[in-house]
Amino acid sequence: MRYISTRGQAPALNFEDVLLAGLASDGGLYVPENLPRFTQEEIASWAGLPYHELAFRVMRPFVTGSIADADFKKILEETYGAFAHNAVAPLRQLNGNEWVLELFHGPTLAFKDFALQLLGRLLDHVLSKRGERVVIMGATSGDTGSAAIEGCKACEHVDIFIMHPHNRVSEVQRRQMTTILGENIHNIAVEGNFDDCQEMVKASFADQGFLKGTRLVAVNSINWARIMAQIVYYFHAALQLGAPARSVAFSVPTGNFGDIFAGYLARNMGLPISQLIVATNRNDILHRFMSGNQYVKDTLHPTLSPSMDIMVSSNFERLLFDLHGRNGAAIASLMDTFKQGGGFSVEEDRWTEARKLFDSLAVDDVATCETIAEVYKECGELLDPHTAIGVRAARECRRSLATPMVTLGTAHPVKFPEAVEKAGVGQAPALPPHLADLFQREERCTVLPNDLKQIQAFVSQHGNRGKPL
Ligand SMILES: *Cc1c(COP(=O)(O)O)cnc(C)c1O
Repeated sequence: MRYISTRGQAPALNFEDVLLAGLASDGGLYVPENLPRFTQEEIASWAGLPYHELAFRVMRPFVTGSIADADFKKILEETYGAFAHNAVAPLRQLNGNEWVLELFHGPTLAFKDFALQLLGRLLDHVLSKRGERVVIMGATSGDTGSAAIEGCKACEHVDIFIMHPHNRVSEVQRRQMTTILGENIHNIAVEGNFDDCQEMVKASFADQGFLKGTRLVAVNSINWARIMAQIVYYFHAALQLGAPARSVAFSVPTGNFGDIFAGYLARNMGLPISQLIVATNRNDILHRFMSGNQYVKDTLHPTLSPSMDIMVSSNFERLLFDLHGRNGAAIASLMDTFKQGGGFSVEEDRWTEARKLFDSLAVDDVATCETIAEVYKECGELLDPHTAIGVRAARECRRSLATPMVTLGTAHPVKFPEAVEKAGVGQAPALPPHLADLFQREERCTVLPNDLKQIQAFVSQHGNRGKPL
C-alpha cells in the first residue's frame, strides 16, 4: 500500500515510512493512494470474530508490504489483549434501537488507547527491524498524553517526552501520565498553557538539530496509523447490529475529526453506514461547516468536554481532499487561504455531497449535563460528557428510527467527575480495578519553564533511555 499527501507535492510513502512521518513535506496529510474495498460476502463472513481477528482482516491491506502477516497478527492479539473487557469494545443498549459503543476499556479509559496501544507496538516492531531509535515529543491537555505514554512504555526503541501545562490538567489525568515509571518515559510540566506546549513541539519538528540525528516522531491525531486503527470498531459494531445486510448510523463526539474520519473510511471500504453525525461542543467549527458551509476559525471556549476543545480540526483536510476529487493543488490553495486568517466555503455541489452522509450538532455545557442526567434517569447509564454530546446529537439528528444508531462512547465517566457532579446524578463512579490505587502511586515529572531552549536541552540530555543522545 502506498500513501500520498493531500497537497499533492510530497513523495508517496509505504506504510512503514508513513508510520514514522508526521506531516508530509508539503504540509499535507498522508492518505492511502487506493482504499481497499471489501465485498458484502466478505464482510458478512467476519461476523462473530474476536476483535483482534477482525482487526487483522480490516487493516491487513493497509500494512501489506511493510509488516508480515504473522507479525501483524501477534501484535494485534497483544494490543487488544491489554483491554479490560473481553469484548474489547462492548455495545450497550440505551433505548429502542439506540446504542453506545464502549471504547473506554483500555488502559487509560478513553478511545485513544485503540490507536496508541497499537502505534507503540508497531513502532517498536519497525524500529527493531531497522536497528533505529526514535524520540517522540507530544503536547497534551489530557487524554492523548496518557494514552501515548501507556502505548510506548514497553517500547525498547522509543523515548517519549510528553509536555502538559503545569497545574492545568485534572489530577486523574496528570496521575495517569506521571505514575507510569520507566527510563524511557519523560513527563514535563511546562510553566505555560497548552498552546505553549504545542508550539514547542512544532518548533522542535521544524528545527531538529538538538536531536543529534535521532529521528523525531509524532503521535498526534494526524498520524495515519491512528486513523487506521479506529476503522476497525465501526465494523465491529455494525456486524453485531446486522450489517452488512442492514445499514447502521453513527454519532461521533468530535474534535480533530480523526475518529469520525475513520467511520467515513469504513463506509468507503464497503460497510453500509447510512449516516455519520458530527457531534461537537461549543467549539463548533465543524458544525458550522456541515450546517452552513462555512469553515471559519473562532476563539477557543473551555468546556466540560475538554478533549474536544479545538479551534481547527486537523484531520478535516483529509475529507476535503476527497470532496475535491483528490486534487492536491485545490487543497493547498484552500489551506493557504485558511492560514491567512480567512475562512472558506466549498462549492455547493461538494458541500451537498458531504451532507448526503454527514449531519452535525453543537451541544453546549448545559445540554451536555441535561443529557447525562436524562440518560442516567432512563436506564442508569452514567455517560462521560463527550459521550453525552454524542448521544444528544444522535437523538436530535437521526434520520431513521428503523436504523440502529450507535454513539461512540469515547471516555469513561470517572475521567470527568466535574461534569458528572454538575449533572446532579451523584458521585462519579469508582476507578476500575487496574487504576484503583492511582492516588497512592509514585509520580515522576519534571517542571520546566516555558522556554524552548531548556525543553530541548532536557530532551537531548535524556533522549536515549534517560541518558544523553
Ligand atoms: C480525543 C477525544 C475526542 C475527539 O476525537 P477526535 O478524533 O479528535 O475527533 C472525543 N472524546 C474524547 C474523550 C477524546 O479523548
